Amino acid sequence: MLQLITILNRCHRFPGFVYQHARFSSDHKSIVIAVRPRKGSRAICSRCHQPAPGYDQLAERRFEFIPFWGFLVFLLYAMRRVDCRRCQAVVVEEVPWADGKRTLTKAYMLFLARWARRLSWKEPAEAFRTSWDLVFDAVEHVVTWGLEHRVLGQIDAIGVDEIQYAKGHKYLTLVYQIDLGITRLLWVGKERTTESFQGFFTIIGEEIASKIAFVCSDMWEPYLKVIRERCSEALHILDRFHIVAKMNKALDEVRAGESRRMALDGLAPVLKKSRWLLLKRQENLKDEQRFRLRDLLRYNLKSVRAYLLKEAFQQLWDYNSPAWAGKFLDEWCRQVMRSRIEPMKKIARSLRQHRELILNYFRAQKLLSSGVVEGLNNKAKVTMRKSYGFRTYRTLELALYHSLGKLPEPESAHEFF
Ligand SMILES: [Zn+2]
Repeated sequence: MLQLITILNRCHRFPGFVYQHARFSSDHKSIVIAVRPRKGSRAICSRCHQPAPGYDQLAERRFEFIPFWGFLVFLLYAMRRVDCRRCQAVVVEEVPWADGKRTLTKAYMLFLARWARRLSWKEPAEAFRTSWDLVFDAVEHVVTWGLEHRVLGQIDAIGVDEIQYAKGHKYLTLVYQIDLGITRLLWVGKERTTESFQGFFTIIGEEIASKIAFVCSDMWEPYLKVIRERCSEALHILDRFHIVAKMNKALDEVRAGESRRMALDGLAPVLKKSRWLLLKRQENLKDEQRFRLRDLLRYNLKSVRAYLLKEAFQQLWDYNSPAWAGKFLDEWCRQVMRSRIEPMKKIARSLRQHRELILNYFRAQKLLSSGVVEGLNNKAKVTMRKSYGFRTYRTLELALYHSLGKLPEPESAHEFF
């Protein structure tokens, strides 16, 4: 135990404090390390962060430190109070290992938060014999610090995305930076209204907003409106990923409706279990699925016709020239409008209405790495699954910033693994 104190005093030093002695708790489950102020050092006022004359000392408190050798570890320290002339009050001192009223040390919070980024929040809580609430505190501390200390710099391109996080139309608005050099989550907003997206522009300010050159979004009208207002100079691109997602949704609607109707009419259930056959790209199907798809395509069904239209649409993305892409798009929409398949016609009408924004995809193609928004969207969904069971807005907001924000971390007195 004496050596432990030597090691700590050498490798995990706090200026103005020393580790005094360590002992096992009476149940032998934890190690308690006593800390005291270094002789002659003055206490720091936690309000103005300046040294101040001492006033009195409070009862000893425990601060939980990173566990080691299977033992829980606590620092034991009696906080001093100072009589601060600057603040004209008696204030509790500031200590370098902890933050305000939290019971975990900063080092332990950083440690837990790093594990919580890799695993679900439940796992580190169990592995290190702490609670989910304390893991939440740890992540909150690290994310708050990171948001206060991050540098926004110049932002060339942003992508805005909506994501459903609970039943009953609960959505979040996510804004990503999608520059070639850096992709990260910049902002999380509640709902998917114009107000929620406006919040992002309030945070970054006029100056940064005015320099944004590209904005990627889906066809959600509130977003389109904000982009028109706030980024009128930027090239606004309807993202390929969002268009494909919308088309798949329409196709699924056609298939589900037709399948139900056929069941009611007592027809053979040829559409049963066909969902993924129709939604997946052909090249991603296994051999057996490909045979089944070939079978299915022989039927004269609405679902089959919608599927063929969707597959034909994929060709759009092969064009390099906006003009040729435009011609293809117009022809495709004409065909769909004659199809009498209402969900697909709805898509075609919407594509026609946003024709220019879609063609901007081809105008910007060489300048943006495509698929970025889709990749980030997938990561956001994985993060949401990991916080499953605690799906409040605040939890998700923290989890998303934590795993996708590339935030700076508070510095720690020593580097642990
Ligand atoms: Zn003060």
